[in-house]
Amino acid sequence: MVSNAYLPVWRVFVVGEDSASSSFLIQPEVGMVSLDGNSIAASMFGEVIANQGARRAYGTTKVKTRLHQQGFRERVMRANREHCAMCRLRHKKLLDAAHIIPDSEPGGEAVVDNGLSLCKIHHATFDARVIGIDPDSLQIMVRRDVLQEVDGPMLRHGIQAMDGTKIWLPQRRKDRPDPERLAKRFEHFLRAG
Ligand SMILES: [Zn+2]
Repeated sequence: MVSNAYLPVWRVFVVGEDSASSSFLIQPEVGMVSLDGNSIAASMFGEVIANQGARRAYGTTKVKTRLHQQGFRERVMRANREHCAMCRLRHKKLLDAAHIIPDSEPGGEAVVDNGLSLCKIHHATFDARVIGIDPDSLQIMVRRDVLQEVDGPMLRHGIQAMDGTKIWLPQRRKDRPDPERLAKRFEHFLRAG
């Protein structure tokens, strides 16, 4: 049986702000009816209604972007059985779907073979080019200067101990990191160290 993950989404607009209480007035899009059940008075929310088209377009873009990212995360998590590919940590809340090629660059699509399931610390070290992945051996390489540092258990066990270990791969071949993307990312890492 194939199981799917669903993410419920409601579009709402921020229509008011009360800075004194640090609170916002949220208006659901459907029907544009206020919380007390009455239609919104045009005098009160005239601007909102006038700008509804623009706001709707903006809202749609935001929702699509969020869904896109959420979908990517779910697919990468599932492919990696909710483990960090480096340290194997299994706490989903501490895991991210990291892009091998950033989504701002060509080749940075939100596809599973451009993704790595990484815990927060390994995602950050990967992005900071402290850790790289050799595309041929799939071994983790820690930047030379960081290997020389002396510090507490996070550096010693969480980062330095990763040097030379292999990343954990998804079972399905098509879900595994794309070697070309890994190679491009590795070049970027080597330039840092
Ligand atoms: Zn990790």
